[in-house]
Amino acid sequence: MEHRVIYLDNNATTRVAPEVVEAMLPYFGELYGNPSSIHRFGGQVAAHIEAARRQVAELLGAEYRDRDGNATEIIFTSCGTEGDNAAIHAALRALPERRKIVTTAVEHPAVLHYCEELAARDFIVEKVPVDGRGRLDMEKLAAAVDDNTAVVSAMWGNNETGTIFPVKEIAAVAHARGAYFHTDAVQAAGKVPVNAAECGADFLSISGHKLHAPKGVGALYIRRGIPFAPLICGGHQERMRRGGTENVASIIGLGKACELARSGLEAENRQLRALRDGFEAKLLATIPRIRVNGDLENRLPGTSSVSFECIEGESILMLLDVFGICASSGSACTTGSLEPSHVLRAMGIPYSAAHGTVRFSLSRYNTEEELDFVAEKLPPIIARLREISPYWKA
Ligand SMILES: *Cc1c(COP(=O)(O)O)cnc(C)c1O
Repeated sequence: MEHRVIYLDNNATTRVAPEVVEAMLPYFGELYGNPSSIHRFGGQVAAHIEAARRQVAELLGAEYRDRDGNATEIIFTSCGTEGDNAAIHAALRALPERRKIVTTAVEHPAVLHYCEELAARDFIVEKVPVDGRGRLDMEKLAAAVDDNTAVVSAMWGNNETGTIFPVKEIAAVAHARGAYFHTDAVQAAGKVPVNAAECGADFLSISGHKLHAPKGVGALYIRRGIPFAPLICGGHQERMRRGGTENVASIIGLGKACELARSGLEAENRQLRALRDGFEAKLLATIPRIRVNGDLENRLPGTSSVSFECIEGESILMLLDVFGICASSGSACTTGSLEPSHVLRAMGIPYSAAHGTVRFSLSRYNTEEELDFVAEKLPPIIARLREISPYWKA
């Protein structure tokens, strides 16, 4: 029992699906050709990359095919971060006379830190705030987007709280002012229906390792007809839109993962929602003074952000770790500080609660038995930490 792992940190990364591993293996073996080669040995690999591109396009509702039947709206990237950077970069290059980027206060660092870099290069960056449930302030968004705005970048689903933004409405606000719209759909893809064509996005990024493909691969949707200046310039790969020899095995894996996500989407969405809701109900019934964060009506199915008042999230994680339970906290621990994350701060979660935030994030591989185990272990852990907390007066 002590040595098993209960993995509830799937918004950080996911297990590579066995079917995906299987699909990738030949590309570490006999199929090692370079897809750019003229000879048939490489050429056959190029065909398999196109098949993967089609699988990605099908998950994302990217319909366009060129004369050869390839989905040219998808390029492969090295990660979600690259897709986010490349989309914003391309939008700025496509509208060079415009100097402003509108984003949100709760984006992933892949967007926020790139925007900071752009602000240092004299671009104007405006971050639209959210309310206490993490919902975007649509009035402030409309006020922020002006004729100087080249791109609006707003995520589809939040990695910390699971809150889903109204991407279609955001796209409309951007387009009304002639700006492009990019959405970071890294957490949404494979968990809720994502249709790039319908949602109005001009750019949409995903990452392999958040949907059971390997780390180090991603994809970017670029709506047909949009001029695209590459972020990474090199060879003629990806129709001149992304230089660098393709990460073939991972691309094949991403394609397979997208196919699995698409065929299992509805069932998985239902499974995760049921597991998550049951888990939260148990915690709310057994532990006093806790709150579930995010937009409860409109959340990714497998994400649960719970704040436990008067204790530290890190202490909870350490005691959960004793039982092999993996989750993550709501602090910006990457910076070595225990400050609540920018997302929780943007939501105005009181400090006493924000500090004790734990994110549980589920995948198709979690079982009810695992969640029952966690729900059973948590109340004594919380009680014990509160007993020694100077802030806790029961
Ligand atoms: C993980 C994540 C990213 C970054 O993806 P990488 O492939 O790790 O670079 C971007 N946005 C969101 C919302 C994420 O959860």
